[in-house]
Amino acid sequence: MEKKNFDWANLDFSYRQTDKSYVSYYKDGAWDEGQLTDNHTVTISECAGVLQYSQSCFEGLKAYTTEDGHIVTFRPDLNGERMEDSARRLEMPVFPKERFVDAVVQTVRANAAYVPPYGSGASLYIRPYMFGSGPVIGVAPAKEYQFRILTTPVGPYFKGGIRPLTLCVSDFDRAAPRGTGHIKAGLNYAMSLHAIVTAHKNGFDENLYLDAATRTKVEETGGANFIFVTKDKKVLTPKSSSILPSITRRSLMYIAKEYLNYEVEEREIYFDEVKDFAECGLCGTAAVISPVGKIVDHGKEIIIPDCQNGMGPVLKKLYDTLTGIQFGRIEAPKGWIKVIE
Ligand SMILES: *Cc1c(COP(=O)(O)O)cnc(C)c1O
Repeated sequence: MEKKNFDWANLDFSYRQTDKSYVSYYKDGAWDEGQLTDNHTVTISECAGVLQYSQSCFEGLKAYTTEDGHIVTFRPDLNGERMEDSARRLEMPVFPKERFVDAVVQTVRANAAYVPPYGSGASLYIRPYMFGSGPVIGVAPAKEYQFRILTTPVGPYFKGGIRPLTLCVSDFDRAAPRGTGHIKAGLNYAMSLHAIVTAHKNGFDENLYLDAATRTKVEETGGANFIFVTKDKKVLTPKSSSILPSITRRSLMYIAKEYLNYEVEEREIYFDEVKDFAECGLCGTAAVISPVGKIVDHGKEIIIPDCQNGMGPVLKKLYDTLTGIQFGRIEAPKGWIKVIE
Protein backbone atom coordinates (compact mmCIF):
# COMPACT_ATOMS: atom_id res chain seq x y z
CA MET A 1 0.00 0.00 0.00
CA GLU A 2 1.41 3.33 -1.14
CA LYS A 3 1.14 6.07 1.52
CA LYS A 4 -0.21 9.45 0.47
CA ASN A 5 2.39 12.11 0.04
CA PHE A 6 1.65 14.50 2.90
CA ASP A 7 4.09 16.55 4.92
CA TRP A 8 2.79 14.58 7.93
CA ALA A 9 4.62 16.47 10.68
CA ASN A 10 3.20 19.79 9.49
CA LEU A 11 -0.45 18.87 8.98
CA ASP A 12 -2.83 20.99 11.05
CA PHE A 13 -6.08 19.90 12.66
CA SER A 14 -8.42 20.55 9.76
CA TYR A 15 -10.61 18.45 7.50
CA ARG A 16 -9.02 16.74 4.52
CA GLN A 17 -11.21 14.34 2.61
CA THR A 18 -9.94 10.75 2.40
CA ASP A 19 -11.02 7.93 0.05
CA LYS A 20 -13.88 6.31 1.93
CA SER A 21 -16.44 7.17 4.56
CA TYR A 22 -18.86 4.78 6.25
CA VAL A 23 -22.62 5.09 6.41
CA SER A 24 -25.46 3.08 7.89
CA TYR A 25 -29.09 4.16 7.61
CA TYR A 26 -31.76 3.63 10.26
CA LYS A 27 -35.28 3.35 8.90
CA ASP A 28 -38.48 1.48 9.86
CA GLY A 29 -37.01 0.62 13.24
CA ALA A 30 -33.76 -0.98 12.09
CA TRP A 31 -30.21 -0.19 10.97
CA ASP A 32 -29.28 -1.41 7.51
CA GLU A 33 -26.09 -3.44 7.11
CA GLY A 34 -23.93 -0.35 6.48
CA GLN A 35 -21.30 0.24 3.82
CA LEU A 36 -18.26 2.21 2.80
CA THR A 37 -18.97 5.07 0.45
CA ASP A 38 -17.10 7.44 -1.88
CA ASN A 39 -19.73 10.10 -1.32
CA HIS A 40 -18.52 12.61 1.27
CA THR A 41 -21.62 14.78 1.24
CA VAL A 42 -24.88 14.26 3.12
CA THR A 43 -28.29 15.05 1.63
CA ILE A 44 -31.13 15.24 4.10
CA SER A 45 -34.59 16.79 4.50
CA GLU A 46 -34.68 20.48 5.32
CA CYS A 47 -36.78 19.40 8.29
CA ALA A 48 -34.31 16.77 9.58
CA GLY A 49 -34.22 16.26 13.36
CA VAL A 50 -30.58 17.30 13.47
CA LEU A 51 -31.26 20.59 11.71
CA GLN A 52 -34.35 21.55 13.69
CA TYR A 53 -33.65 20.18 17.17
CA SER A 54 -29.92 19.31 17.16
CA GLN A 55 -30.43 15.58 17.57
CA SER A 56 -26.82 14.49 17.11
CA CYS A 57 -23.89 12.93 18.91
CA PHE A 58 -20.37 12.01 17.94
CA GLU A 59 -17.13 10.31 18.93
CA GLY A 60 -13.46 10.95 18.28
CA LEU A 61 -10.51 8.55 18.16
CA LYS A 62 -7.31 8.04 16.22
CA ALA A 63 -5.62 5.43 14.07
CA TYR A 64 -1.84 5.51 13.97
CA THR A 65 1.16 3.38 13.11
CA THR A 66 2.98 1.52 15.87
CA GLU A 67 6.73 1.06 16.17
CA ASP A 68 6.52 -2.38 14.48
CA GLY A 69 4.45 -1.05 11.57
CA HIS A 70 0.89 -2.05 12.47
CA ILE A 71 -2.08 0.26 12.06
CA VAL A 72 -4.02 0.32 15.34
CA THR A 73 -6.65 2.23 17.29
CA PHE A 74 -6.84 2.70 21.04
CA ARG A 75 -9.80 1.24 22.98
CA PRO A 76 -12.44 1.80 20.26
CA ASP A 77 -14.85 -0.40 22.24
CA LEU A 78 -15.07 2.38 24.84
CA ASN A 79 -15.96 4.92 22.15
CA GLY A 80 -18.64 2.50 20.97
CA GLU A 81 -20.00 2.14 24.48
CA ARG A 82 -20.00 5.88 25.04
CA MET A 83 -21.86 6.43 21.78
CA GLU A 84 -24.47 3.92 22.92
CA ASP A 85 -24.92 6.00 26.09
CA SER A 86 -25.15 9.22 24.06
CA ALA A 87 -27.78 7.73 21.76
CA ARG A 88 -29.94 6.52 24.66
CA ARG A 89 -29.89 9.91 26.36
CA LEU A 90 -30.86 11.66 23.11
CA GLU A 91 -33.62 9.15 22.23
CA MET A 92 -31.69 7.97 19.20
CA PRO A 93 -31.49 4.31 18.20
CA VAL A 94 -28.38 2.59 19.56
CA PHE A 95 -25.77 1.64 16.98
CA PRO A 96 -24.37 -1.47 18.70
CA LYS A 97 -20.79 -1.14 19.96
CA GLU A 98 -19.64 -4.30 18.18
CA ARG A 99 -20.84 -2.85 14.89
CA PHE A 100 -19.25 0.47 15.82
CA VAL A 101 -15.83 -1.18 16.20
CA ASP A 102 -16.30 -3.14 12.98
CA ALA A 103 -17.24 0.04 11.11
CA VAL A 104 -14.17 1.84 12.49
CA VAL A 105 -11.94 -1.04 11.35
CA GLN A 106 -13.48 -1.09 7.84
CA THR A 107 -13.14 2.68 7.45
CA VAL A 108 -9.54 2.84 8.64
CA ARG A 109 -8.56 -0.13 6.47
CA ALA A 110 -10.08 1.58 3.42
CA ASN A 111 -8.06 4.72 4.19
CA ALA A 112 -4.82 3.01 5.23
CA ALA A 113 -2.87 5.21 2.79
CA TYR A 114 -3.81 8.18 4.96
CA VAL A 115 -2.56 6.70 8.24
CA PRO A 116 0.66 8.59 8.98
CA PRO A 117 3.92 6.69 9.48
CA TYR A 118 5.36 5.90 12.92
CA GLY A 119 7.37 8.74 14.40
CA SER A 120 5.67 11.52 12.44
CA GLY A 121 3.52 12.52 15.42
CA ALA A 122 0.56 12.64 13.03
CA SER A 123 -2.49 10.35 13.02
CA LEU A 124 -5.67 9.55 11.16
CA TYR A 125 -8.47 11.18 13.13
CA ILE A 126 -11.66 9.11 13.13
CA ARG A 127 -14.98 10.87 13.62
CA PRO A 128 -18.01 8.58 14.07
CA TYR A 129 -21.24 10.56 14.30
CA MET A 130 -24.94 10.04 14.26
CA PHE A 131 -27.87 12.34 13.58
CA GLY A 132 -31.62 12.46 13.11
CA SER A 133 -32.15 12.62 9.34
CA GLY A 134 -35.92 12.09 9.23
CA PRO A 135 -38.24 15.12 9.22
CA VAL A 136 -39.64 16.40 12.54
CA ILE A 137 -41.59 19.57 13.11
CA GLY A 138 -43.36 18.80 16.39
CA VAL A 139 -40.67 18.28 19.03
CA ALA A 140 -40.03 14.52 19.01
CA PRO A 141 -37.25 12.08 18.19
CA ALA A 142 -36.74 11.62 14.43
CA LYS A 143 -37.80 8.32 12.88
CA GLU A 144 -34.78 8.05 10.59
CA TYR A 145 -31.06 8.34 11.37
CA GLN A 146 -27.64 8.07 9.83
CA PHE A 147 -24.57 6.65 11.55
CA ARG A 148 -21.47 7.77 9.69
CA ILE A 149 -17.70 7.74 10.04
CA LEU A 150 -15.37 10.19 8.37
CA THR A 151 -11.61 10.14 8.69
CA THR A 152 -9.09 12.91 8.18
CA PRO A 153 -5.30 12.95 8.62
CA VAL A 154 -4.13 15.37 11.32
CA GLY A 155 -0.69 16.54 12.36
CA PRO A 156 0.97 16.39 15.78
CA TYR A 157 -0.99 18.31 18.41
CA PHE A 158 2.04 20.15 19.72
CA LYS A 159 3.99 21.62 16.85
CA GLY A 160 7.15 23.39 17.98
CA GLY A 161 7.16 21.99 21.51
CA ILE A 162 4.69 21.78 24.35
CA ARG A 163 3.58 25.13 25.74
CA PRO A 164 1.75 25.20 29.08
CA LEU A 165 -1.81 26.50 28.75
CA THR A 166 -3.45 29.38 30.56
CA LEU A 167 -7.06 28.77 31.58
CA CYS A 168 -9.71 31.11 32.85
CA VAL A 169 -12.53 30.24 35.22
CA SER A 170 -15.58 30.63 33.02
CA ASP A 171 -18.63 32.66 33.95
CA PHE A 172 -20.63 30.25 31.79
CA ASP A 173 -21.66 26.76 32.82
CA ARG A 174 -20.87 23.77 30.64
CA ALA A 175 -23.42 21.27 31.92
CA ALA A 176 -26.30 21.05 34.34
CA PRO A 177 -26.22 18.45 37.14
CA ARG A 178 -28.87 16.25 35.54
CA GLY A 179 -28.31 17.44 31.98
CA THR A 180 -26.25 16.09 29.08
CA GLY A 181 -22.68 16.86 30.16
CA HIS A 182 -21.79 13.17 30.44
CA ILE A 183 -22.61 12.36 26.81
CA LYS A 184 -20.92 13.48 23.62
CA ALA A 185 -23.81 15.49 22.21
CA GLY A 186 -23.19 18.06 19.50
CA LEU A 187 -25.34 20.48 21.47
CA ASN A 188 -22.77 20.54 24.30
CA TYR A 189 -20.30 21.99 21.83
CA ALA A 190 -22.74 24.42 20.19
CA MET A 191 -23.40 26.06 23.53
CA SER A 192 -19.69 26.15 24.45
CA LEU A 193 -18.67 28.14 21.36
CA HIS A 194 -19.55 31.52 22.81
CA ALA A 195 -17.61 30.71 25.98
CA ILE A 196 -14.48 29.61 24.12
CA VAL A 197 -14.55 32.50 21.66
CA THR A 198 -14.89 34.86 24.66
CA ALA A 199 -11.99 33.15 26.45
CA HIS A 200 -9.77 33.42 23.37
CA LYS A 201 -10.70 37.09 22.94
CA ASN A 202 -9.53 37.65 26.50
CA GLY A 203 -6.22 35.91 25.82
CA PHE A 204 -6.90 32.51 27.42
CA ASP A 205 -6.39 29.07 25.87
CA GLU A 206 -9.33 27.27 27.48
CA ASN A 207 -12.15 27.62 30.00
CA LEU A 208 -12.19 25.88 33.34
CA TYR A 209 -15.84 25.14 34.07
CA LEU A 210 -17.13 24.92 37.62
CA ASP A 211 -20.08 22.77 38.65
CA ALA A 212 -23.27 24.60 37.74
CA ALA A 213 -25.08 23.92 41.03
CA THR A 214 -22.60 25.38 43.52
CA ARG A 215 -19.82 26.87 41.36
CA THR A 216 -17.27 25.64 43.90
CA LYS A 217 -16.04 22.43 42.28
CA VAL A 218 -13.87 21.78 39.22
CA GLU A 219 -15.60 20.07 36.31
CA GLU A 220 -13.59 20.10 33.08
CA THR A 221 -12.77 22.30 30.09
CA GLY A 222 -14.82 22.45 26.91
CA GLY A 223 -13.25 19.29 25.55
CA ALA A 224 -10.85 17.74 28.04
CA ASN A 225 -10.89 16.29 31.57
CA PHE A 226 -8.55 17.37 34.36
CA ILE A 227 -5.84 15.40 36.12
CA PHE A 228 -4.13 17.06 39.10
CA VAL A 229 -1.05 15.94 40.99
CA THR A 230 -0.69 16.93 44.63
CA LYS A 231 2.63 17.96 46.19
CA ASP A 232 2.91 14.49 47.74
CA LYS A 233 2.37 12.96 44.28
CA LYS A 234 -1.18 11.74 44.60
CA VAL A 235 -2.98 11.68 41.21
CA LEU A 236 -6.46 13.19 41.37
CA THR A 237 -9.31 13.65 38.94
CA PRO A 238 -12.68 15.32 39.54
CA LYS A 239 -15.71 13.12 40.07
CA SER A 240 -19.00 14.48 38.78
CA SER A 241 -22.00 13.11 36.93
CA SER A 242 -21.86 16.02 34.48
CA ILE A 243 -18.29 15.40 33.26
CA LEU A 244 -17.76 13.67 29.94
CA PRO A 245 -16.01 10.37 30.80
CA SER A 246 -12.77 10.82 28.84
CA ILE A 247 -11.23 7.55 27.70
CA THR A 248 -7.77 9.13 27.90
CA ARG A 249 -8.37 10.21 31.51
CA ARG A 250 -9.70 6.78 32.52
CA SER A 251 -6.68 5.12 30.89
CA LEU A 252 -4.23 7.51 32.58
CA MET A 253 -5.77 6.90 36.00
CA TYR A 254 -5.43 3.15 35.45
CA ILE A 255 -1.80 3.56 34.40
CA ALA A 256 -1.05 5.81 37.37
CA LYS A 257 -2.22 3.09 39.73
CA GLU A 258 -1.35 -0.17 37.98
CA TYR A 259 1.83 0.72 36.06
CA LEU A 260 3.34 3.54 38.13
CA ASN A 261 2.06 2.75 41.64
CA TYR A 262 0.81 6.22 42.45
CA GLU A 263 -2.01 6.72 44.86
CA VAL A 264 -5.02 7.75 42.76
CA GLU A 265 -8.33 9.29 43.66
CA GLU A 266 -11.47 10.23 41.71
CA ARG A 267 -13.36 12.60 43.96
CA GLU A 268 -15.01 15.99 44.10
CA ILE A 269 -12.31 18.64 43.81
CA TYR A 270 -13.01 22.11 45.15
CA PHE A 271 -11.61 25.01 43.18
CA ASP A 272 -10.10 26.27 46.45
CA GLU A 273 -7.79 23.24 46.49
CA VAL A 274 -6.26 23.93 43.08
CA LYS A 275 -3.79 26.54 44.36
CA ASP A 276 -2.08 23.80 46.40
CA PHE A 277 -1.57 21.31 43.55
CA ALA A 278 1.83 20.72 41.95
CA GLU A 279 0.73 19.70 38.46
CA CYS A 280 -2.33 20.12 36.29
CA GLY A 281 -3.05 18.53 32.94
CA LEU A 282 -5.89 18.39 30.44
CA CYS A 283 -6.56 14.97 28.96
CA GLY A 284 -8.23 13.95 25.75
CA THR A 285 -7.60 12.04 22.54
CA ALA A 286 -6.20 15.09 20.74
CA ALA A 287 -3.10 15.77 22.87
CA VAL A 288 -3.22 12.93 25.47
CA ILE A 289 -2.05 15.45 28.12
CA SER A 290 -1.69 19.23 27.81
CA PRO A 291 0.03 20.88 30.79
CA VAL A 292 -1.69 23.82 32.45
CA GLY A 293 0.68 26.47 33.75
CA LYS A 294 -1.74 29.07 35.00
CA ILE A 295 -5.41 29.41 35.93
CA VAL A 296 -6.93 32.87 36.18
CA ASP A 297 -10.00 33.40 38.35
CA HIS A 298 -11.33 36.89 37.65
CA GLY A 299 -7.91 38.52 37.82
CA LYS A 300 -6.54 36.27 40.53
CA GLU A 301 -3.74 34.09 39.16
CA ILE A 302 -3.02 30.56 40.28
CA ILE A 303 0.40 29.36 39.18
CA ILE A 304 0.82 25.60 38.82
CA PRO A 305 4.41 25.30 40.04
CA ASP A 306 5.57 22.10 38.33
CA CYS A 307 4.00 22.85 34.93
CA GLN A 308 5.80 26.08 34.11
CA ASN A 309 7.97 24.53 31.41
CA GLY A 310 5.64 21.78 30.25
CA MET A 311 4.37 18.69 32.00
CA GLY A 312 5.57 18.18 35.54
CA PRO A 313 7.41 14.94 36.35
CA VAL A 314 4.34 12.85 37.23
CA LEU A 315 2.31 13.95 34.21
CA LYS A 316 5.34 13.32 32.01
CA LYS A 317 5.62 9.76 33.29
CA LEU A 318 1.91 9.22 32.70
CA TYR A 319 2.23 10.65 29.20
CA ASP A 320 5.28 8.57 28.33
CA THR A 321 3.65 5.40 29.62
CA LEU A 322 0.34 5.88 27.81
CA THR A 323 1.96 6.87 24.51
CA GLY A 324 4.43 3.99 24.97
CA ILE A 325 1.46 1.62 25.25
CA GLN A 326 -0.29 3.20 22.27
CA PHE A 327 2.74 2.94 20.00
CA GLY A 328 3.61 -0.60 21.05
CA ARG A 329 6.78 0.21 23.02
CA ILE A 330 5.23 -0.84 26.35
CA GLU A 331 3.00 -3.86 26.86
CA ALA A 332 -0.67 -2.85 26.83
CA PRO A 333 -3.35 -4.06 29.22
CA LYS A 334 -5.47 -6.72 27.52
CA GLY A 335 -7.89 -5.31 24.96
CA TRP A 336 -6.52 -1.76 24.81
CA ILE A 337 -4.98 -1.94 21.33
CA LYS A 338 -7.16 -2.89 18.37
CA VAL A 339 -4.90 -4.01 15.52
CA ILE A 340 -6.39 -3.07 12.16
CA GLU A 341 -3.63 -4.34 9.91
C1 LIG B 1 -14.42 14.05 24.00
C2 LIG B 1 -14.34 14.85 25.23
C3 LIG B 1 -13.31 14.67 26.18
C4 LIG B 1 -12.12 13.76 25.94
O1 LIG B 1 -12.46 12.41 25.84
P1 LIG B 1 -11.45 11.36 25.23
O2 LIG B 1 -12.25 10.10 25.17
O3 LIG B 1 -10.30 11.24 26.13
O4 LIG B 1 -11.05 11.87 23.88
C5 LIG B 1 -13.36 15.40 27.34
N1 LIG B 1 -14.35 16.29 27.58
C6 LIG B 1 -15.34 16.50 26.69
C7 LIG B 1 -16.39 17.50 27.01
C8 LIG B 1 -15.37 15.79 25.49
O5 LIG B 1 -16.36 16.00 24.63
